[in-house]
Amino acid sequence: MFFTLTELEHHPIQFDVRYKPGEIDLTEDYRQIGEVHAEGKATLLRNTLGEIRVQGHLNGNVEADCDRCLEPAAYAIDAPFDLFYRPVSKTETHGEVHLEEGEVDIGFYEGDGLSLEETLREFILLSIPMQLLCKPDCAGLCPHCGANRNTQPCGCSVKLEDPRWDALKKLI
Ligand SMILES: [Zn+2]
Ligand SMILES: [Zn+2]
Repeated sequence: MFFTLTELEHHPIQFDVRYKPGEIDLTEDYRQIGEVHAEGKATLLRNTLGEIRVQGHLNGNVEADCDRCLEPAAYAIDAPFDLFYRPVSKTETHGEVHLEEGEVDIGFYEGDGLSLEETLREFILLSIPMQLLCKPDCAGLCPHCGANRNTQPCGCSVKLEDPRWDALKKLI
């Protein structure tokens, strides 16, 4: 779905859309599992230089490799969003964009409008925590034999995990 400035100049645009897995490009690190549902509206803000506000609610499930054991780790998103987009001006395309404090939620668009999929993609990626675990107490992979310690306790000695012992072992 694409919001054109021409249409937004006349009226806000309501949306209620569902995306099948894979329809929103989430980079190679994340997979969309199940449908993503988003509803809300896009408004062209008056008395601005073409600032578009997209607000609504999104829910859906994504998945990535667990940071510790590399098994799939799911993350559910069920959250409201309220995002602001400014047109890219010629000065802003050169060099760093300066944002005032409190303006972190402002994005930019080029051309004659804004893609809803692109907006939702950004929101989903920002919603996912930096560290995603399959479960809060994931035991991870054994650094010595590579076994998944959630499923198969390996025989590796815990003492060997401290690298300081390596120097001592060489002396023996
Ligand atoms: Zn894990
Ligand atoms: Zn091991």
